[in-house]
Amino acid sequence: MRINKYSGMKSPFLTQEHEMIRQTVRDFAEKEISPLAYQLDKDEEFSIDLVKRMGEMGLFGMCIPQKYGGQGLDYQSFIIAIEEIARVDSSQAGTLSVHNSLGIGPIYNFGTEQQKEKYLPDLCRGNYVWAFALTEPNAGSDSRNSSTKANLKDDSWTINGSKTFITNGNTSITRGVTLQAVTGINEGKKTFSTIIVEQGTEGFTAETIHDKMMWRGTNTAQLFFNDCKVPKENILGPQGEGSKIMLQSLDAGKLGVAAIGVGLAQGAYEMALQYAKSRKQFGKSISNHQAISFKLADMHMKIELARTMLYKACWLKDNQQKFSLEATIAKLYSSEVAKEVADEAVQIHGGYGLIKEYPIERFFRDQRMLQIGEGTSEIQRVIIAKHLGCYIK
Ligand SMILES: Cc1cc2nc3c(=O)[nH]c(=O)nc-3n(C[C@H](O)[C@H](O)[C@H](O)COP(=O)(O)OP(=O)(O)OC[C@H]3O[C@@H](n4cnc5c(N)ncnc54)[C@H](O)[C@@H]3O)c2cc1C
Repeated sequence: MRINKYSGMKSPFLTQEHEMIRQTVRDFAEKEISPLAYQLDKDEEFSIDLVKRMGEMGLFGMCIPQKYGGQGLDYQSFIIAIEEIARVDSSQAGTLSVHNSLGIGPIYNFGTEQQKEKYLPDLCRGNYVWAFALTEPNAGSDSRNSSTKANLKDDSWTINGSKTFITNGNTSITRGVTLQAVTGINEGKKTFSTIIVEQGTEGFTAETIHDKMMWRGTNTAQLFFNDCKVPKENILGPQGEGSKIMLQSLDAGKLGVAAIGVGLAQGAYEMALQYAKSRKQFGKSISNHQAISFKLADMHMKIELARTMLYKACWLKDNQQKFSLEATIAKLYSSEVAKEVADEAVQIHGGYGLIKEYPIERFFRDQRMLQIGEGTSEIQRVIIAKHLGCYIK
């Protein structure tokens, strides 16, 4: 049989274990998350309870070895989990994706043994979330223009500056943040390091950003560092390598964003298909009108293509091969597919698609994050063009 019950067509990249993970996470998402998604979005509420339940399900630290409290699974498994959560609620998928790929990821990939032992077990259990702070008020796409500074004196770093739009940055279960700070100048250019700051450290404060259009169930914060002192050992990875660490972490993060795009598009498409079969106009289901059936065919096709590119990039990562270009393509394509599919799904719902009672309205708002977060669509195109050898000096 060519059609897979859960993910559309059968994929050569998936094993039976992957399909079992999909089924388990789908059941959890439909039973535990879907009934709460409307209200959390309406109230703009970050749900600690859902974070804990996702932790109990083993969704945090899925790719971290068991000795640090993780599940020791491959990245493909994690991507399937994100896809399935985003199929019902992008906010919970956003919290999960950022915490895993940008929160836990850099600590596991670049941390010392002491740092891993200190932070990973709690972060893998879902007792706490962790934030990744790159963006500043005057440095978004141009992250090398960031100005938050860290000076090393005696045995501590003193940090001054601010970060903005930081996911998981200001909740009562935020354990800490990995930030990029300027720690030197080399041949007239800033050099950066990544530094860990725990919540509660003197000089570190945070404020939640309210009234977001999308991802209203996530926490987004501004962070302020005012003569904030942390021990010398809080540096993550080698001094001066911060930019590299941040950008490498973002490659993994892009796969998470792509998975949210595929999952969101899948959820929107399923809603539209069901609606088109049941809604009757001119004496027949609107799915019998060719204009609507062609939209559904295009939506299905685009989702399959986006998912295939995403799984190819995951396969490369899981097989220790370079995946940066493929992750960029997957992020760009999936986020644009999510936009097109959500838009057509609203169109198929007619006037009802514009009413909040219908979840498609939330999906339409949530997809907008994907073309901006973790690198805008324009910046993804710049990266792809650089791989092609454009921009000759
Ligand atoms: C809800 C939310 C959560 C987020 N979470 C995090 C997080 O956890 N951690 C974190 O560090 N950041 C986070 N971000 C920040 C996000 O990554 C940035 O918003 C994004 O990188 C864009 O930066 P900017 O908003 O400053 O836009 P800008 O960089 O100012 O860009 C504005 C416009 O100019 C375009 N542009 C800029 N430069 C170029 C160029 N060279 N060529 C062509 N076009 C260009 C952009 O594509 C965009 O269209 C989050 C943002 C949001 C909204």
